[in-house]
Parts: sequence; structure tokens; C-alpha cells
Amino acid sequence: MKPPRSTTMRLVALLALLLPAGCSSERAQGIRGAEPYRLSGAACLAVLRERGIAVGRWQHIPDRSCRVDTPVRAGSGRLASFVPPLETSCAMLVAWSDFEAEVNRAARTHLRSPVVAVQHYGSYACRSMTGNAGRASLHARARALDISGFRLADGRIVTVHEGWRGTRAEQRFLRAVASAACRRFSVTLTPESDRRHQDHLHVDIGPWRQCGL
Ligand SMILES: [Zn+2]
Repeated sequence: MKPPRSTTMRLVALLALLLPAGCSSERAQGIRGAEPYRLSGAACLAVLRERGIAVGRWQHIPDRSCRVDTPVRAGSGRLASFVPPLETSCAMLVAWSDFEAEVNRAARTHLRSPVVAVQHYGSYACRSMTGNAGRASLHARARALDISGFRLADGRIVTVHEGWRGTRAEQRFLRAVASAACRRFSVTLTPESDRRHQDHLHVDIGPWRQCGL
């Protein structure tokens, strides 16, 4: 027998509360929310300066469909260097520098050594979103970052590709980083998300929210 409409609506509302954000037809887009980190121009550069993060000029060639707000090139954040040097938007670098202490906390807890370098596949790429050709990727505005691994002070290197299913300590560290990233960034994608993210963690400061854990 079909339940009355009000009961059906209550069930739908209850299910919406119980299901994780990524577990629906909205998986490819996430849930839309306010876009964080609207810092731009001189105000944004001043934040980096206050934090002691030196940036150089990034010779970004503006493309009508892929404009980067306040492009910067940085050899390191507050706590760890970038390998290779990172070319990104000022806002993304500020967001990353807000997150670095959490990465180090996870590294000290699970691996007993702080992170000294972040390996990455870059922030900027003028292309549409993977799995959604109609929408520009957050990489098109350099408001995303693909992290491939971490080098620790004791010389160890933990990559997402091997560490995600590596030793127990590596697994715990990378999941702790991803879990913290879910709280900090708009979208976090991991090897649990899909086949395209087997070797890196994607984080961004776009308007959609999704935690791929
Ligand atoms: Zn990405």
C-alpha cells in the first residue's frame, strides 16, 4: 500500500539527512554553497606577506575562459615547500597555508615526522571539469590543487598512489589529511571517489561542496 504523501515527504527528508553528500545523483557536482576565499589582489597578497610566504610572478597568459585571479608562483607555503614550485591563484595559496598545520598534525600523529615538502600535479589547467564537460573545472581558475604525495623530515615519501593502500600508518595519515581537507575545502576527492583520483587528492575552493571519503 502506498503511504500518504506527508509520510513519503518525511521519509525523503529523513533520507536526505542520513545520506552522505556524495551519495546521490549530485555526486559529480556536490552541493552548492557559498564560495569561500574571495580574497583578491593587493589584500590577498598582503595576507601572504603577513604569513611570510614569498611569492614571485607567474607569467599567466589570460584566456577568456580561464582567467586566474591574482596569479602567484610560490616555492613554499608556511611550513613545507612545493615540489615543483606551485603556480596558483593567491586565494588558493592562502587556503592551502590555512591547511598546512593540519597536514603536519596528521603526519606527526601517524608517522612521527612533520611534512617538509608537498608533491603535486598542479593547480592550473584550462579545461572543463572531469566527468562534467559543460562546467569549467576549478583548475581553470587555479582554485584547486592536486596533491600527489608528501616528503617527511625523516626522508620518507608517502604518495597517494601507494600510501592510500600502503602501510597502516600511511593509510591513517592520508585518510586523516583527506578528512581534515573535507572540513577545510569545498571539494575533496580521493582514491575512494573514482578512477581518475587514484594517485592524488583533489582539493578546491569552489562553490560546490563534496567530501569524497
Ligand atoms: Zn583536481
